[in-house]
Amino acid sequence: MRSDAKRRAVKKAVAREARTAKRLASRIWELAEPPMQEVESSRLLADYLAGRGFKVEFSVPSVPTGFKATCGKGRPVIGFLGEYDALPDCGLEKGTYGHACGHNLLGVAAAVGAVAAARMLEAQKKRGRVVYWGCPAEEALAGKVYMARDGAFRRLDACLAWHPGNRTGVKAAGGSALDSLVFEFYGQTAHGASAEGGRSALDAALLMDVAANYLREHVPDNVRMHCVIREGGNAPNVVPGYARIWYYTRAVDRAQVDDITRRLIRCAKGAAMATETRVRVKKITGIYSRLRNGPMGELVRDNLVLMGAPRVTQADRDRVKKLGKKPDFEKGVHTEISETAGKASSDEDSVSWLAPLGAFNVACVSKGVRGHHREYTAQSNLPFAHRGMLTAAQVFAGVCWDLVTDAKLLGRIRDEFKKGTKGFKYDPLIPKRQRPTLDNV
Ligand SMILES: [Zn+2]
Repeated sequence: MRSDAKRRAVKKAVAREARTAKRLASRIWELAEPPMQEVESSRLLADYLAGRGFKVEFSVPSVPTGFKATCGKGRPVIGFLGEYDALPDCGLEKGTYGHACGHNLLGVAAAVGAVAAARMLEAQKKRGRVVYWGCPAEEALAGKVYMARDGAFRRLDACLAWHPGNRTGVKAAGGSALDSLVFEFYGQTAHGASAEGGRSALDAALLMDVAANYLREHVPDNVRMHCVIREGGNAPNVVPGYARIWYYTRAVDRAQVDDITRRLIRCAKGAAMATETRVRVKKITGIYSRLRNGPMGELVRDNLVLMGAPRVTQADRDRVKKLGKKPDFEKGVHTEISETAGKASSDEDSVSWLAPLGAFNVACVSKGVRGHHREYTAQSNLPFAHRGMLTAAQVFAGVCWDLVTDAKLLGRIRDEFKKGTKGFKYDPLIPKRQRPTLDNV
C-alpha cells in the first residue's frame, strides 16, 4: 500500500471507532481508579476489545487488573501497551484521584490502534498478530514490572507505546532507571520524657536520611534520590518503636542505580547500628532505562508525520482560557528524534529489553500545564485531548501495518534489538513471589 492509501485506510479504520473511543476515555476519566484497583477501567477496555474479536485473558495472577487481548494469526506479533491508572490528590475535587497524566487517553488510544490495525490486516488478508497488553499501575511504576516477571511481553517481534503530552514527537531515550525501596526500622518504645530504655525507630529513619544527604556528594550528576517518611511515630511522649521511609533511587544507567541502591542500604544499616534498631528493606519495584532502537524511532516518527499532529481550534483555545491557562498549543510534529533521557521513569522502558520498543508523544493538553496536577486532569477530558488520542491510535495502526507488511524493515529493527541485548538476560529486579503491595508501602 502506498503511503497516501495507507493514511486513508488508517484514518478510516480509526474514525469508525471514534465515538466509542471518546466514550471510553471519558468513562475511565470519571472512574479515575487507583493503581492496581483499575477493576472497571480494565474491564471496559477488555470488553471493548472482546467485542471487536480479540481473545481476552486476565492471565497474570499477581496483577489482576492487567490483561492480554490478541487478534490475528501467525507472525509477526506486534504488542500495544495500554495504561489506565489515575493519581492521588489530582481529582478535580480535593482528596480524590484524577487522570493527571492522561492515562484515560493512553489505554484507549492503544486499544483503538490495535482494533484498527487488526481490521486492516484482516481486510488485506495479511498474516500477523496484534496483542494489546492492558498494564495497570504505571504511576506506581509497577504494573509492567510484575507482569514481565510473570512472563508477559515475551515473543513479541516489536512493541509500541505512547504518552499524552504537550508536544507531538518521538523520544528515543526514555526515562531513568529506578529502584523503589521501603526501609522499616524497629526500635523500643519508652516514655518520651524518660527515654533511656527506648530506641527510636524515627531517629534511625532520620539518621539514614542524613547519611543519604552526604551520599549525594559522591554520586554521578544524573543520580536522583528522593524519599517520604510514611510513618514516624504517633505521639511525642512515646519513643517511636516503628518507622518507615520510602526511597526512590534513579539514574540514567541501570548499573548506576544498582550501585546507589547498594550504598543507600548501607546508610540504612549504619543508621540502625548507631541507634540500636533493626532495619528491614523491601524492594517494591525496579525498572530499566530504555534500550534505544534507531530504526524503530524513525519508523514511528515517519508515521507521526504522515498522520499529522492534532489540529487546534478556536474552541480549544477558549476552553483552556476558561480553565485559567494560556491558550497556547504546540503545533505540528517535532521531526527530530529527541535523544535526551528524561529524569522521570516509566515501566515501559523495562519492556524495551524484551522487545524492540517504539514510543511517542502526542499533544493532548496545552503548553505549560503541570503534569500530575489537577489542571492536567481538567484538560485530559476535553475535545482536544480526544483528538490527540485518536491521532495516537492512527500512529499505532500505521506503524503496525508497516511492521507486518515490510519484512526487511522489521528485520533491521530486530537486528538492532539483538545487538543491544547480546549477552543480556532479563532480571525482573524484584523478588520472585512478591506480590505488588502498593497500599501499605
Ligand atoms: Zn503517565
